This record gives sequence, structure tokens and C-alpha cells, in this order.
Amino acid sequence: MLGNNVEQVNLTLEEAHELALDCLLASGFDTQNATAVADRMIQAEGDRCYSHGLFRLPWYCAAVKSGRANGKARPRIESLAPAVLRVNGDNGFAPLGQALAHEPLVACARQNGIASLAFVNMYHIAALWPEVERLADDGLCGFAFTAAYPYVAPAGGNKPVYGTNPMGFAWPRKNAPPLVFDQASSALARGEIQLCARDGLNVPETAGIGPEGEATTDPNAVLAGAQLGFGGYKGATLALMVELLAGALIGEFLSVESFEDDGGQGGPPRGGELMLALDPTRHGDAEGFQARGERLFAAILAQEGTRLPGARRYANRLQTLEQGITVPASLYTDIIALKSGLNSGSSQV
Ligand code: NDP
Repeated sequence: MLGNNVEQVNLTLEEAHELALDCLLASGFDTQNATAVADRMIQAEGDRCYSHGLFRLPWYCAAVKSGRANGKARPRIESLAPAVLRVNGDNGFAPLGQALAHEPLVACARQNGIASLAFVNMYHIAALWPEVERLADDGLCGFAFTAAYPYVAPAGGNKPVYGTNPMGFAWPRKNAPPLVFDQASSALARGEIQLCARDGLNVPETAGIGPEGEATTDPNAVLAGAQLGFGGYKGATLALMVELLAGALIGEFLSVESFEDDGGQGGPPRGGELMLALDPTRHGDAEGFQARGERLFAAILAQEGTRLPGARRYANRLQTLEQGITVPASLYTDIIALKSGLNSGSSQV
């Protein structure tokens, strides 16, 4: 979401990747970690998922420069039970551990019919669609959950307790890209509100409340107050579930604990992620599951005004492959300064 009057710079995906890599390497990441982070950021830019793209780069660089995050992390994969894996991220950013865990998770799910994977001791689990989509590319159903800093008030309350706690789901299809949805349990992802604040745009009144619990459309007031769950109490109960699955269950921080750990500095959150992978060929209808999924999708698409979740991102992906991406000029200037070591990054997004 970019405001119409924001000056922009055009980049190819390759140029953007090279810039991100240079900035990360100049900030103390080693090649393995920098490559995994740059891959993930440019993947997000390519799908126009701006809140997890280059926008985050100064923040990531500052976290390694300050010593909060480990730019040379060596994630370790452990087996906790026949169908339960855990990745210890060695205090690094999530993408390297996530990349290393994919094949073991797929193998474990195929062997057992189902597998779970916990990510702990890593910073900033970003968008969830890349991991679940990749599972579905390998023929599995994928779920992912993560919690971060407390931004969302419980139903009826006005102080943040839950993260914006997204959930991702993917379903494999035969002759089409996977069906994927990935959504916050808050009415808006926080990154979207931050982008509105940056670009001088309002947010809908359902997005959140101001510091005194007042109704507002000012993104800065919501950032200072509390976000709200989507659909009232129903989003809040899902946020509650995600706190328990991605925090309490796997021995990682609740959102409030992650905030305490950061001391309110606004650096990237340490937090966990829980992923589940299901092998649909081991759940009772190996021959028919895919056709019946397609029947459902056809029934949805037969109605005017519908589309499948994920379709917008896939269309964006095709466009940016050809047209490249646009980056706000102010961010581009920051990135060039970061690359040349003239900017130490931003400790807060
Ligand atoms: P959106 O509300 O934009 O979209 C949610 C899902 O609904 C998407 O899968 C989207 O598909 C789908 N969708 C949207 N409109 C329609 C429609 N008309 N018909 C069918 N499907 C539709 O996502 P959020 O703002 O909630 O989240 C954005 C990103 O931010 C996510 O990737 C999420 O993981 C991430 N996030 C990360 C957090 C963290 O702590 N790491 C916290 C919160 C969010 P499509 O993509 O094709 O539009």
C-alpha cells in the first residue's frame, strides 16, 4: 500500500536482492544468513507484501549492529518425538532456520502422516505464506502460527496483550499454485498500519483504538493505543490460541514476555513459530482429496465477485517478474546509506 504522492524508485528483483544483500553484509551478517534474509525479503517484495519486504531492512541491520540479533547464526534441528521437530535459531533471524527445516519437516510428515515443527530462539518470524506455500508445493497441507509483541487488546479491553498473531494455511493443487491464506488475527497487520503512518494515510476505525480507548482512524493513535482483533471477539480468541501454540506450547515467549525481553526498545521480536504439516495421501482419501478440493474451489469461483486466497499474490508475482518493484524514494535513500555504512539502520520500525 503506497500513497499516490509518495516518490518512488523502480528496481528489478535482482537489483533489489543485491542491495539487500550488500546492506546485510555491511551490517555484520555472514553470507548464509544475509542470503536467507535477502531471499525472503525480496520474495515478499515480489508478491507486493510490502510490510515484510525492504521496509524491514534498516531494522534488521540495526538489530545485528547493536548485537541484539546474531548475524552469523547456526540454527540446529532436533527431534523431540517421532513426529515433532524443533529448530533452535541460535539468536539469528528466522529465514535461515526456516530454509534448513523445510526438507526435514517434509520427510517427517511423509513418514508419519503428520509432523509438527517448533521454531525457537530466533528473531522476527515474518509473513507465513512462504513456508506453508512451500509445503503445499511438496504435496502437503501446511499450517503456521506465530506471536510477536503485544499490540492487540483482548475483547472488551483497551490494553494490548496479544500479538497480531497470524495464521497461515496451504492446500496442494494439481495444475495450479497452492491455495494459501495467511492472515493476522488483528483487523490489520501492524506493518500495514506503520505503512499508512509513513505515507500519511488513514486506517479504518475497526483497526484499533487510541491510547485512552477512543475511536480513531489515525494510524499513529492506533500505534500508540491498541489494535483490535478482526471480527470483534472472534479475532481475539484466535489471537489467544496462537499465543498458546506459538508461545506456551513450545517453550517460547508470549507476546508480553517478548516485549519485556526487548525492554520496549522496538527492536525485532524474539518469538516462536509452530508449523504443522499433514500428508493428505495418509488421511483416508489419497485418490480423491485433490478432486474434492477442486470441486469446492470451483463452487466458490462460480460466484461473481469471488477469488481464491493467494490469487492476488500470485498475480503480483507474475507482474513483478516482468516489471520489477517500486520502493519509496526515502527508503531507497536509507538503503543506499546503509550499504555504504553511512547509516546504522533504524532500531524501530
Ligand atoms: P490480508 O488481510 O491482506 O489477507 C489475508 C488473507 O486473505 C490473504 O491470504 C489474502 O489473499 C486473503 N484474501 C484477501 N481478500 C480476499 C478475498 N476477497 N477473497 C479471498 N481471499 C482473500 O492479510 P493480513 O493483513 O492479515 O496479513 C498480511 C501479512 O502480514 C501476512 O503475510 C501475515 O503473516 C503477516 N503478519 C505477520 C505478523 C508477524 O508477527 N510476523 C503479524 C501479523 C501479520 P491474498 O494474499 O491473495 O490477498
